[in-house]
This record gives sequence, structure tokens and C-alpha cells, in this order.
Amino acid sequence: MKKFDLIIIGGGRASHLASKVGKLGKKVALIEKSTLGGTCANRGCVPSKLLIGYADVIRAIEESNRHYINSSIDKIDIEKIFENNNSFINSVDENHKSKLNENVKLFRGIGFFVSNNIVEVNNEKLTAPKIIIATGASPKKAPFEGAWTSDDIFPINKIPKSITIVGSGFIACELVNVFDALGVKTKLLVRSENILSNEDEDISKVFKEEFSKKIDIEFNTTIKDATYKDSFFDLTLEDKAGKTKNHTSEALLYAIGRESNAKSLNLKNTSIKLDDRGFIKRDKFFQTDAKGVYVVGDAAGKYMLQHAASYEMNYLYKILFEDENRALEFKYMPHAVFTDPEIASVGVTEKEAKEKNLNFVVSKTDWLTSAKAQGTKLKYPFTKLIVDKKSYKILGCHMIGPQSSTMIHQVLTVMHIDNDIRHLKEMLYIHPALSESLLPAAINIVKKIERLK
Ligand SMILES: Cc1cc2nc3c(=O)[nH]c(=O)nc-3n(C[C@H](O)[C@H](O)[C@H](O)COP(=O)(O)OP(=O)(O)OC[C@H]3O[C@@H](n4cnc5c(N)ncnc54)[C@H](O)[C@@H]3O)c2cc1C
Repeated sequence: MKKFDLIIIGGGRASHLASKVGKLGKKVALIEKSTLGGTCANRGCVPSKLLIGYADVIRAIEESNRHYINSSIDKIDIEKIFENNNSFINSVDENHKSKLNENVKLFRGIGFFVSNNIVEVNNEKLTAPKIIIATGASPKKAPFEGAWTSDDIFPINKIPKSITIVGSGFIACELVNVFDALGVKTKLLVRSENILSNEDEDISKVFKEEFSKKIDIEFNTTIKDATYKDSFFDLTLEDKAGKTKNHTSEALLYAIGRESNAKSLNLKNTSIKLDDRGFIKRDKFFQTDAKGVYVVGDAAGKYMLQHAASYEMNYLYKILFEDENRALEFKYMPHAVFTDPEIASVGVTEKEAKEKNLNFVVSKTDWLTSAKAQGTKLKYPFTKLIVDKKSYKILGCHMIGPQSSTMIHQVLTVMHIDNDIRHLKEMLYIHPALSESLLPAAINIVKKIERLK
């Protein structure tokens, strides 16, 4: 039996944690079954956003007539683009490995529990007083042979000429936007009539209108049958009324949600419990039902976002190695959808505010008072604020428009430091920066609250 101070199962974001603990002089066993860096760096946030960079440039050229500029694209070197992306992905493991130090022993293999405090990997048994499960999540399997999930395109082996994507969440939308912009013939299949339905309703409504102008979307549609022959999928699409039609596509990709990786851990040998979605249960200090065994990041199934995973891991480090004794409470969890249009959001939606019976005021303000916003020649961008009637606390903020993911950070700062919408009304903005559009949004809602007093 090999003894360590800490065992970490899963070298995604947690490979940074392993290095950090190793720097304290502690002996760490890091177990990774695939490439270090995990989902975000290898097959998630980073490679998808690198592709979005190309898509943004293409869209700007394609839509330049909005600015009275006629332009056309001579050639999109899609091979080069994916070659670049693939080569980034191929560098991730080595890059992460180079950051490990001599106190971190890397085991390449599937780690699983033999008991609450013994883990096995490659026929070796390891033990430590502290064990961290950071095994992340995986895409839900595609129901048809040969169909892809997001894991199959990072890296991509063969770039398809056409792709059909199934799903209505952020991954489906981001990927369909990228392929479409790069000139691949795309179709998005959405089971219901809504898309990005976790967003505030006003946001997803405008998103649906705008996104449908670019992307061929079939709502209320599922795939009844799919056969793969001669390098093509023959699909039978079925709408809500049971009407069917045929569709052919070189590639078929399912982005229908993510599931727990807990199965590989052999948890039946332990007292660790799962929730009803199959993710690992924990208390407020990240501890599972087995003493000394902790779970962080996507493996706990809570936020499933990289910034949440990384924040949690830093916090767990403080709990385990810096005597932090307060539980982590995420006050606000922001997220963005990097599509065209771009969306950013934090806090409750209007529907959630109603369900929670919050005492709130809501306002929707377009960005057009800002000259920089006018310069985009887009009419739809707006900010929706949901603010507590009594305390002026921002309960939710939702934006749709270019650079929303950047813009929302000034709202986040206020929410984190001293949450009061009046700060956004009173602060000085650079005229006429895009961010300035938050000023009328703040003025509007403060006026609304004051009228109600
Ligand atoms: C296409 C896509 C786009 C995304 N875009 C964004 C975005 O823009 N912003 C954002 O915040 N988030 C995004 N995410 C989500 C983000 O990638 C995850 O939230 C994040 O990677 C979670 O980190 P983690 O360390 O918890 O898990 P992971 O990064 O998944 O790491 C888990 C690791 O554990 C390993 N493992 C699993 N089981 C075992 C085992 N039994 N033994 C050994 N090793 C094991 C896996 O191989 C993996 O390397 C995206 C995800 C996808 C799929």
C-alpha cells in the first residue's frame, strides 16, 4: 500500500490543486484516466471558445452590410482552423504535466475505491487521510451508433460538410453557431419550442428570434430514426404532431446534457452517497458521506461551470490546508452563453423571483443610449434588472448583446462588494463606452422603486 498526504482522483481543474498542495511539501497522488486539464482545456470551454473567435470574425464580415459595407469572404480555411484547434488540444496534457512538481506522483489510469480510504489504480493500492474526488462529468451518450457528442470534436478527425446538432442548451447553441459560421451546413433540432430555456424568458425570447435568423432550427422536433450509410446519416425527423420527414447529414452531434462520472469510482465499496441525478453528495465543506473524502467541481453536479469548479477547488484548499472553517456559500453564480447573440446572466430570473415570492421590481432597458451600442447597428441588445424593492439589492441581471459576458462584470463587482443598484446609478462611466448603457438601466429601476415608495 502506498501512502500519501492527499489523493486526488481526476486531473481536470484539480491538477492545479495537486501542484499547489505539492508546493506545501505534501505528498500527492494525482490519478487521471485521460489527458490532464480535463474537460475545460481539452474538450470544453477553451477549444470551443477558440473556435468562437473565428466565428465572430466571419459573422462580422457576413453582416457588414448592416454598416453599409458590402463584403464577401474569399475562403475560410476550415482545415487550418481545426488543425490549429487540434494542435492546441494536443498541447494541453504536456502543458499541465509541466506544472506538476516533484511531490506530485501522477498515476495514469482509472481510479476507484476499494474502501472509504483506499483507492486503486493500475493494480496499485493507495491510501491518504484526505481524498478528493474531482472526476467531473461527461456528455450524455448519443442514442445512435456513430453519432457524436462534444467530446468527439475536440480534437476533430474529419471535418464534416454538414452537421445536425440535437439540443437546446448553451453547448448545442455555441457549437451550431461555430459550425454554421465556418461554412458547414447545419441544422439544430430542438425538442420543445424554447431554446436556452434556463435563461430569463425575455432573454431567451429575443435570443430565439435573433438566432433563428442565422441558424436553421427545427423546433418541436426529435429524431425518430437514424441510419448511417455511405458516410451519411439518414434521419427521420418527427414533429410534435407526429409528422415525419427525412433529412440527411454527414455528422450528427448530441448535446443533450451532462452526466456524472461516478460509476467508474466503485462507490459501492464506500459510504459515499449519490443524489437522485447520480452526482456525489456532499456537505457544506465539500465532504462526502465518507469522512476525509471530498468532492469538488462538476463531480458534485451543482453548477457545472469551470469558474465554479476552480473557485471551489481554491476554497477546498483553504479548508484542508489553511484552516478555513467557514463554509463556502456562492452568493452569485454568473454564466455566459458565447453565441451570436451573446448572453450573460447572474442571479434569479423573473420567473424564479416570482416563484420565490421575492419583493422585487423589474426593468428592461435597451442599450441604445450608448453611442458605442448604436455603432453596433443592432437594435435588440438590452439589460434586464431584477432588484429588491426595499434594499435596492440586485437579485438578477440578464443581458443580451455584444460583449455581454464582459459587460456583466461591473454588475458582478457591485453585487460582490456592496450589493446596491444605486452604486451603478451614481458611478462615473466612460462616455460613450458600451458599459455606459448600464447607467440608464440603473436609473430606470431606481426611479421605478422610488415611485413605488
Ligand atoms: C463543450 C463545452 C463547453 C464548455 N464551456 C464552458 C464555458 O464557456 N464556461 C464554463 O465555465 N464552463 C464551460 N464548460 C464546463 C466546464 O468545462 C466544466 O465545468 C469544468 O471543466 C469542470 O471541471 P472539473 O475539474 O470539475 O471536471 P473535468 O474538467 O471534467 O475533470 C475531470 C477529470 O477526471 C477524470 N476522471 C473521471 N473519472 C476518473 C476516474 N475514475 N479515474 C481517473 N480520472 C477520472 C477525467 O478524465 C477528467 O480529466 C464547458 C463544457 C463543455 C463540454
